[in-house]
Formats: sequence, C-alpha cells, structure tokens
Amino acid sequence: MEKTGDKNSKPSLGKETRDLLKESGLKARKSLGQHFLVGRRVLGKIIASGGITKEDVIIEVGPGLGVLTLELAKLAGQVICIEIDSSLAANLGGRLSGIDNVSILNRDVLGTRPSEVLPPGETRYKVIANLPYYITSPVLRHFLEAEVRPCLMVVMVQKEVARSIAAIPGKMSLLSVGVQLYGRAEIISAVPARSFHPVPKVDSAVVRVTSYPEEIIPAGCRGSFFEVVRAGFGSPRKQLINTLSHGLGMDKENVSGRMLEAGIEPKRRAESLSVEEWCCLWRVLKKDEGEGECLH
Ligand code: SAM
Repeated sequence: MEKTGDKNSKPSLGKETRDLLKESGLKARKSLGQHFLVGRRVLGKIIASGGITKEDVIIEVGPGLGVLTLELAKLAGQVICIEIDSSLAANLGGRLSGIDNVSILNRDVLGTRPSEVLPPGETRYKVIANLPYYITSPVLRHFLEAEVRPCLMVVMVQKEVARSIAAIPGKMSLLSVGVQLYGRAEIISAVPARSFHPVPKVDSAVVRVTSYPEEIIPAGCRGSFFEVVRAGFGSPRKQLINTLSHGLGMDKENVSGRMLEAGIEPKRRAESLSVEEWCCLWRVLKKDEGEGECLH
C-alpha cells in the first residue's frame, strides 16, 4: 500500500493512518465510503491542481482522518470540512483544535447548502475532496447546481466515473453532460487502489472541474433541459430520433424536423452530442413551450 512511488524520507502515510485508527479505536466504515488516502504523491497532485492560495475558502467533503485537511489548512485562507461520521468529526476536531482556519462540521453534505456554511456574503469557494464514492454523482450535482456554485472542484472519484465526467463527444453520458454543462472537466491523475487504506476494489482518478462564470442554462430551465437529455440517453445505443420521440412523446417526423433545424442528423446517438449541441437541440424541441427563450 505504501509503494506509491514516494521516495522521500517522510513517514509512510499508510503506517500513520493505521496507527491513528488503532490509537483512536476507530474503524474504517466502508458503508460510508471510508477509504483513507495514503499516497503522498497523489496528495501532492490534488493540492497542486487546486491552485490554492490564502485568498481561498475551501469546502472539503468528508475530511476523514484529515490527511488532505492538514495540507489544505497550510495553503488556504479557510477550510470548511463537512463530515457525516460523528466519531471521525470529533476525533479530527480534537486533533486540529489548534489550527484556527479549519472548521469541522458534523453534517451530511447532501443536506447542507454551501451558503449555510460559507462565511456570510462569500460567493467564491473551491471544493477539494476525496469523495465518498457511493454518493459521487449526487455530491457533484449538489455543488454544481447550488445557488452559490464553486469556482473550482478537485475531486477524487472512481476511475470509470472520472472518464465519464471528462468524456468527449462519442463517449458522452448523462453524467458527462450533467457536469460539462457547468464547467470544463479534466482528469488530473490516475490513482491506483493501493493508494488507499483499506484498499478499495476499484481504481480511482483525480478530476478537476473549472466552472464557467455564467450558467449556460438558467436554473429555471434546467428541468426541461435535462428532460430532453434524459430522453436522449433513454436507450443510448438507439438513434436519437427514436429515443427522443419515445421519451418526449413526440411523433418522429416532428422530432426529425426539429433535429435538422438544430443542425443535428436524426440518426446520431446521444453519446455523440456535445453540450453545445444538446443546448441547440433543447432550444428547438422546447421552443413551443417558450422555454428555449431561456438560452443565452
Ligand atoms: N478525506 C479523507 C481522505 O482522503 O483520507 C477521507 C475520504 S473517504 C473516501 C470519504 C469521507 O467522506 C469519509 O470520511 C466519510 O465518512 C465521509 N462521508 C461519507 N458520506 C458523507 C456525507 N454524506 N456527508 C459528509 N461526509 C461523508
């Protein structure tokens, strides 16, 4: 587990983690996605790709034993950690009590709006986290669709999920569209399973999402936009003319005409469309409902 290519003299994070768990009588709870990061090089990559400065307010989801938290605290102005496990939150709170730019909140991230925990009036923040994989997509949506969105997210996710998030047309999915609608997504680094304790069954990757300053689809139109995208991905292997007509309850001739109006060949498949093309398609499919007017 420690063989992550680190050849420096610092003590092994794997040993530190195991010792800490033992001393505190804590056990990793797999049901909460508790796989603690023990790869120092990976830790360095997460931190470097966050471009963190003293101006930054960071929200960390699931600080766990605090390996990432400690590094964030050295560089950022403020670190707000949201941890659902009360034992971990209490343990970390105790160990970091002398560090005054870190706060540990014992809460469920999905039940916590960013604006509730950010300093009053703060609208610029970054999310940096080794995510609990059982709620990866809901957590991404939670932040990307929040009233106050992060300017940057650097998150560890399962390798296949990372590929889907950063996919290009030809390999797009509902998740790719759902993330890339809000920002530019890129894979920063592949991370082998041995970089965690306990070792998970899957490999991981670090992903960075840099938010666009303006929303492409206004919040009030998201429902109708994703109704179209979901219909398109209803049967990803089928031609869009069929999935859209079935999913939206429109006749094929009507769908075909509108697809051509959007500059999209009706025989194409959902995975081949870019976010821009989904936006054009949504506009022409929903124009009778007046919702296409939302598009900038
Ligand atoms: N950041 C630590 C690290 O890198 O070693 C721990 C990461 S571990 C993959 C995920 C963390 O998220 C765990 O500490 C877990 O308890 C926490 N977690 C799980 N579900 C959560 C939720 N709904 N809200 C907040 N934290 C959660």
